[in-house]
Amino acid sequence: MRKTKILSIDDEASFTDLLKQYFEPRNYEIEVTSDGDKALELLRRAKYEVVLLDLKMAGLNGDEVMREIKQLDSDIKVIFITAYSDSGKTKKRLLEEGAYAFVEKPLTSLKHLEDMVKEAAGADGQEEIPC
Ligand SMILES: [Mg+2]
Repeated sequence: MRKTKILSIDDEASFTDLLKQYFEPRNYEIEVTSDGDKALELLRRAKYEVVLLDLKMAGLNGDEVMREIKQLDSDIKVIFITAYSDSGKTKKRLLEEGAYAFVEKPLTSLKHLEDMVKEAAGADGQEEIPC
């Protein structure tokens, strides 16, 4: 079975490590980076289905990264994961601008995030072959 490819972009290395440790043994391909520019380079080189994106980062911020991603390939699903909260204003705006979902840090459950990733990866009509 083809693995879903995830790119995690977050300047908190302990967080991207956690995601890697969770997703890798569960049969996902996950690449991580703390740098928005590096992320765009990776996205130009390979096809990722789902991007897990931090909002506040040094260099390119999450907003800018999403804009670039959408220009590159509008099929890529962007899930924001951030501790930043302003009573839903930013969440609303990002969803309107094309984000697939917005998850607040700290995560309550990695399983919940995994379900979201699964749903996102299947959301663009990719055939899911039943066994
Ligand atoms: Mg951050």
